[in-house]
Amino acid sequence: MKTMKALVWGGDGALALADRPVPTLLEPTDAVVKVTLSTICTSDLHILRGALPRAKPGIVLGHEFVGVVEQAGEAAGGLRPGDRVAANCITFCGECWFCKRGFINNCRQGGWELGCRIDGCQAEYVRVPFAKQGLTRIPDRVADEEALFVGDILSSGYFGAELCGIKPGDTVAVIGAGPVGLCAMECARLFGAKQVIALDVDEGRLALAKREGLAQAVGNPQKENAWELVREWTQGRGADGVIEAAGGKDTFQLAWQIARPNGVVALVAMYEEDQSLPLPQMYGKNLIFKTGGVDAVHCARLLELLEAGRLRTGFLITHKAPLNQILQGYRVFENREDGCLKWAVTPWEEWE
Ligand SMILES: [Zn+2]
Ligand SMILES: [Zn+2]
Repeated sequence: MKTMKALVWGGDGALALADRPVPTLLEPTDAVVKVTLSTICTSDLHILRGALPRAKPGIVLGHEFVGVVEQAGEAAGGLRPGDRVAANCITFCGECWFCKRGFINNCRQGGWELGCRIDGCQAEYVRVPFAKQGLTRIPDRVADEEALFVGDILSSGYFGAELCGIKPGDTVAVIGAGPVGLCAMECARLFGAKQVIALDVDEGRLALAKREGLAQAVGNPQKENAWELVREWTQGRGADGVIEAAGGKDTFQLAWQIARPNGVVALVAMYEEDQSLPLPQMYGKNLIFKTGGVDAVHCARLLELLEAGRLRTGFLITHKAPLNQILQGYRVFENREDGCLKWAVTPWEEWE
C-alpha cells in the first residue's frame, strides 16, 4: 500500500505527523487531490482546544487547500486528473433542501467534514467527497497563493459582507483584523462600502489593514474608545454595518454597541463561550442580527474576482514551509509569533 505523510489529531490535543495510506476513491462522486498548498486555520485550533465535540479523534486535520486532481470518480462533475482546483471547506451534496437554497453549511449530508469528521488536507493527498460541489477549477492566471483562501476565509469574509447587506456609501466596521476580518474588509469595499473601520487589539494587524488600503480608519479598543472613533467617522450615528470576525470575550458586546440604530450586525466569528444579549439595553436600537457559519457558495465568482484583480489575498501568507514543519507552524500560528497571519504548507520534502 502506498503511504503518505499526514498530520493526525489523536484527541486530547495530541498532534503528530504520521504515515497514512494514500486515500482512494470510495464513491463515484469523490476525487482524490494531491495537495500543492494548504494552510492552518483558527478552526483547527478550536479542534485542538476541544471546543468542537463533533470533531473525530484520529483524523487528518486541515480544510483549506488547493491542489491537483489525481483521480476523479465518474460522477465528480467532469473533473480530470491534472486539473488545478481550489477546495471548499464545506462538504455539500448540492441536492438536499438546504443545498438547493444555497444554505450549504447545513447540508443534510455534509457541513464541515474535511479535517473535522473525515481526513483533511494537511497531508500529501486528500479524498474530497462530492467533488463536483467541493472543488472549483482555478483559472491559469490565478496562483496557488491567491486561490488558497477561496473556499474558507475569503468565502467567510465575503459571507460576512453579504450578511451585512452593504449599500454603496455605507460605513462598515470590522471587528478583528485577522485573516477573515481582513478578507471581510476587502469584500465590504467590493460591495460598495465607502469607509471601512478596522478594530483589533493587535497593532501589527491594524497597521497591515491600513497599509494594504483595506481600512480608512483603525482603532484599538483596549487603548481608545471604539464607539467615539466610529461616531467620528459617521457623523455621530454609528456604523451602518458591523462584521464581527474576532470572537473574543467582549467583541460581541462591542459589535452591537458600535452599530447605528437599524444597522446590521453580522456575526461570522466562532465563539468558544456563550454570549449574552442584553435586550433592555438594546431596546429602541432596532438592530438586525445575522449569524453564520460560512455558506461558501461563491468559489467560482471569487476566483473570477481574483483573476480580474478585484480581490487579492496573497498578502495574508506571512509564513511558508513544507509539511515537515507543520508542528512548528501550529505553534507559531497559534501564538501569533513573528507577526504570523497565515502559515502556508507546501508539500512534504524528502530530506537526506
Ligand atoms: Zn477554516
Ligand atoms: Zn445538501
